[in-house]
Amino acid sequence: MLIKNITVIRADGTCFENMTVGVSGGTFSYIGRSVPEGEWKETIDGSQKLLIPGFVNAHTHVPMTLMRGYGDDMPLDRWLYDRVFPFEDKLDGDDVYWGSLLGIAEMLASGTTSFSDMYYFCESIIKAVTESGIKANIGRGISCFDHTKKFRDLPAYNELTYLIDSFQGAADGRVRVDAAPHSEYTTRPDILADIADFAAEHDINIQVHLSETQKEQLESTGRHGKTPASVMLDAGILELPVTAAHCVWITDSDMELLAEKKVTVAHCPQSNLKLGSGIARIQKMRHSGINVALGTDSAASNNNLDMFQEVKAAALLAKGVSLNPCEMPAGDALYMATRAGALSQERDDSGDIIQGNRADFVILNTRQPAMIPCHNVLSNVIYAAGAGDVEMTVVDGRVLYRNGVYTTLDIERIMYEVNRCVNALI
Ligand SMILES: [Zn+2]
Repeated sequence: MLIKNITVIRADGTCFENMTVGVSGGTFSYIGRSVPEGEWKETIDGSQKLLIPGFVNAHTHVPMTLMRGYGDDMPLDRWLYDRVFPFEDKLDGDDVYWGSLLGIAEMLASGTTSFSDMYYFCESIIKAVTESGIKANIGRGISCFDHTKKFRDLPAYNELTYLIDSFQGAADGRVRVDAAPHSEYTTRPDILADIADFAAEHDINIQVHLSETQKEQLESTGRHGKTPASVMLDAGILELPVTAAHCVWITDSDMELLAEKKVTVAHCPQSNLKLGSGIARIQKMRHSGINVALGTDSAASNNNLDMFQEVKAAALLAKGVSLNPCEMPAGDALYMATRAGALSQERDDSGDIIQGNRADFVILNTRQPAMIPCHNVLSNVIYAAGAGDVEMTVVDGRVLYRNGVYTTLDIERIMYEVNRCVNALI
């Protein structure tokens, strides 16, 4: 397709007006001011529209859309033990498949083109990703509460091995398989060390929860005499490409460690606020050189997967906490929600509007009440726009959502099946 006369916003917030963008073979084949030669299947008039990089949701548990609104305003422990765990005990692959499709539909409608997930029944999630056309790094969650078991005795080991053999790089590279040790408090140092060896052997990335709550930070120090970040370091986990979600309670020396080991922090401000976990010090992290990406966490603790809301919350919190409105300007916020996430997924050819990159992008309609007037197009995107302003969501050059219509998903069927699954589970 060829898009003419459009305003392009790069991942760092730089704006270019009256651009022509050519998309072919899944990539941006042309970005410039003239009109390139060639036959185009479709030409789009981009006047009064914006083209931005697709959002990358760097931390979520997409099937947990099934638990949206199922236990709010509760202490974290009670929420987990009285609601989430009993519900998850009954889940099967069919539930996870429909819940994943619902979450993917929500993400496509709100401009997300890729996500990093941590859950189980991963084959069902991969099926949903493959069918929908979205991109995802699928982390098989690993936890162990049985002291007699080693990593290789766990069902997660067998499933992860199977997933790597069957799906690594599947759907033209849209699917990537990661290992996802759940956290310090749900595993053991020897299990983490085995996961690190396994991940190095198979050349895969790690997703992990790190220092989400003060309790986690204190208990780790009580158990091991060291912080969760140091436990991960000593187990060898930090030698791999790691995306660490939350990092609300990390110490200054943890921060230095994460910067040195090039760990990405997936900042999930709304989930951290809703669960009363605190506010991550992301400005300090960014100043110390850490790649900070942005995630929604699950719909059980958010309660949606809308990156427009997340990026605005992240920008406002950074300003409010520092008592400085100049902190986290709109361009930095957009970078965190796009390119930083793509880098965390090791998708170097994604997350920005550059010729030759994968064509993952969103077109926003500026003929909308919240987008007028336009004193500053970038500030409209970060502080005013919402999912309702998304006209088109495109992944690898393929239109997946356009003017409220999904091209790959039967949304009526998905909503029906999710309600059917939830009724049976409850
Ligand atoms: Zn999480």
